[in-house]
Amino acid sequence: MVQLTEKFLAAVAGWPVIFEARKIRAAGKVKAARYDPPLLKGAVRAGSRLYASGLRIASPQEVENICSCRISQAEGDGMICPHSVAVALEVIHGEPSPHPPARP
Ligand SMILES: [Zn+2]
Repeated sequence: MVQLTEKFLAAVAGWPVIFEARKIRAAGKVKAARYDPPLLKGAVRAGSRLYASGLRIASPQEVENICSCRISQAEGDGMICPHSVAVALEVIHGEPSPHPPARP
């Protein structure tokens, strides 16, 4: 399986997309995220829509964007959209930690 890291995401999506994805995640728009290799799946809110986002990561060289957004649909497999990368970031940084933050 391919280990999800920001370096890997930057290689497949590019840093501008990572920065955009960080903003999406920081805004709390990632509603679900799960990595069941090779499938990364999640849900991302964008405006009034909720996109089913994710990636199919067959290998580091074979990454398919499975997001339901227009960027993904229009550009086909070549373009990884910020939604899917935001889901990946959520998996990377949102894993249960030994010390979960207290909920207000
Ligand atoms: Zn998308």
